[in-house]
Amino acid sequence: MTCQVSRELEQLVLQARPYSAHGNLASYIPALEKANPNHLSVAIFDLDGNCIYAGDYKQKFSLQSISKVLSLAYVLARIGEEEVFQRVGMEPTGDPFNSIAKLETVKPSKPLNPMINAGALVVTSLIPGTNPREQWDGFLAFVRTLTGNQKIDYSQELQESEFTTSYLNRALCFFMKQHGIIVGEVEEIMELYTKQCSIEMNCLELAQLGAVFANNGRNPVTGEQLIPVQIARICKTFMVTCGMYNASGEFAMKVGIPAKSGVSGGILGVIPNRCGIGVFSPALDEKGNSLAGWKLLELMNEKYNFSIF
Ligand code: GLU
Repeated sequence: MTCQVSRELEQLVLQARPYSAHGNLASYIPALEKANPNHLSVAIFDLDGNCIYAGDYKQKFSLQSISKVLSLAYVLARIGEEEVFQRVGMEPTGDPFNSIAKLETVKPSKPLNPMINAGALVVTSLIPGTNPREQWDGFLAFVRTLTGNQKIDYSQELQESEFTTSYLNRALCFFMKQHGIIVGEVEEIMELYTKQCSIEMNCLELAQLGAVFANNGRNPVTGEQLIPVQIARICKTFMVTCGMYNASGEFAMKVGIPAKSGVSGGILGVIPNRCGIGVFSPALDEKGNSLAGWKLLELMNEKYNFSIF
């Protein structure tokens, strides 16, 4: 098992980095504005446990919406498909990630999929546990196992910054509570959700976690089945159809791998049966995807030809 800097990837980082100048930091979560917009990092973790990396690879970032894949995997494994898909659908929306529009037009008011905020809030509300502490401890332990790093934790500064400004996410929760899709206390769900979004890691840890999905739920290093095969498959399918916000179709055309991005500028990529990819660059395009991160993945696809289509 080796982990080393890659000259080839460094070249691609050089080519992609200028694109960050055309993007903006997410500002609706005030603490995210502290990021350095020029940062760009990438890591690839393969199924033999080897990794390569380039750019600002030590830089930590919060998962934000990438955590939606992890909460989905966790909740599916703990309470089963039937229970989850009673409350959240399987279809892409074409709307922005935080849109409330479809909740009013779809009957019952069930969110269309677990990758948009409304759907992810439902999933978070389903995290098992007798109290919020137990819910959080169980979920965090799962994320730590996936990354192979027991020190993974959330940033309290980011969590508080989002928790105190999440009016829209609260509105989504209250709307769904009114319609019986969400049960439980909205403030508790918001606390749990903002904690999961504020979990921090670097691109190497993100790539390692991606390799578990690439390896059909099995830890590539130990061989341990961390996520049931069927659940890893469901997560990858959602990543293809809804992972890159309302640009998921374009991303499928141009890069063609299961991926999930977050407004911190992180992107989790999964090349089935090959490797996991972690990318980070915080300047975003107007749909919320990392500009230089997306460009870098396009360049990588041109070089390594990893589209699954
Ligand atoms: N915590 C963010 C929110 O709920 C996540 C959004 C994202 O990364 O897409 O607004």
